[in-house]
Amino acid sequence: MGQDQTKQQIEKGLQLYQSNQTEKALHVWMKVLEKSSDLVGRFRVLGCLVTAHSEMGRYKEMLKFAVVQIDTARELEDADFLLESYLNLARSNEKLCEFHKTISYCKTCLGLPGTRVGAQLGGQVSLSMGNAFLGLSLFQKALESFEKALRYAHNNDDTMLECRVCCSLGSFYTQVKDYEKALFFPCKAAELVNDYGKGWSLKYRAMSQYHMAVAYRLLGHLGSAMECCEESMKIALQHGDRPLQALCLLCFADIHRSRGDLETAFPRYDSAMSIMTEIGNRLGQVQVLLGVAKCWMARKSLDKALDTIERAQDLAEEVGNKLSQLKLHCLSEAICRSKGLQQELRAHVVRFHECVEETELYCGLCGESIGEKNSRLQALPCSHIFHLRCLQNNGTRSCPNCRRSSMKPGFV
Ligand SMILES: [Zn+2]
Repeated sequence: MGQDQTKQQIEKGLQLYQSNQTEKALHVWMKVLEKSSDLVGRFRVLGCLVTAHSEMGRYKEMLKFAVVQIDTARELEDADFLLESYLNLARSNEKLCEFHKTISYCKTCLGLPGTRVGAQLGGQVSLSMGNAFLGLSLFQKALESFEKALRYAHNNDDTMLECRVCCSLGSFYTQVKDYEKALFFPCKAAELVNDYGKGWSLKYRAMSQYHMAVAYRLLGHLGSAMECCEESMKIALQHGDRPLQALCLLCFADIHRSRGDLETAFPRYDSAMSIMTEIGNRLGQVQVLLGVAKCWMARKSLDKALDTIERAQDLAEEVGNKLSQLKLHCLSEAICRSKGLQQELRAHVVRFHECVEETELYCGLCGESIGEKNSRLQALPCSHIFHLRCLQNNGTRSCPNCRRSSMKPGFV
């Protein structure tokens, strides 16, 4: 298969893919990979395969194609191709919750010689890196990367990237519990979809609706949460988007748990868990187990809760997510206290405080915790976060955590 025919077949696959005939599209692309001798064409088709498998949640296959794509890029001896394939490798690892590897591949990307394409992809590299830092609960570094990605998006008028960064920032503020910002950013993403997204894939709309649902639930607006989540799930089902289906099911379960309807919550947690397991989203599994443990606690089934927490703790340690570990120790603490298990209780208290130290989840001004309950936060230009009220009361000009000047206007 020569250059022209390769191009034609890739295009044919794209048309099939866009009209939701995914399996047929994959078949066409695999044939190209088998038969084409055109290196650039092979590189492109591998890119299509990476994207398609990512969207379906087949992350292990995604990783396999990304690895082959790197070999192809090396054969082509071209910096742009190499960058693109390393970005795909970083993303595959991000999806598989291999956060340290993600960060290391992102750093490889940033170390490659600067090119025109490099300027375009730099924002996406920063976004992936931010997501990985967030996965490790390294909040300051995560925020720094997201801010960088946002700057790239603004400088290049890349509204699609901006939309994705806003969703990640929603997730960030959900975790550090500034629910106002947790809602603000996905709303901003939804606005971008409305204003610019006519030609975009519907997954952007679905993604912003999902993040809005999460924030609405935390704010206690369960009706709006339900509406957004249903909208997101509808699109996820139409597109065979397994990863988003899993997240929506988790969100539905959390909404029902918030309503006190555990009977309805449990089967949704189960469904979410089975998809998370199928696709290999281990951090998602931890989040499901956290919800399930809270249900068991609400039912006063403390032994079942402890079993669930133990499973979650293993997974959380495996992926290196400190925030979940912190939350799990906190739950264990409560259970051990009510069961009168003094020794275990002390161990959990110690581990809990270690996690607080490691995540730096305390305000450098008042010394109190961040992320324990909903409060308005503000980041300084160094990306360290503080209580908004503490910054206003102290009128500080340099960051108490790192002593960097904060004369520049702060991050939104
Ligand atoms: Zn404070």
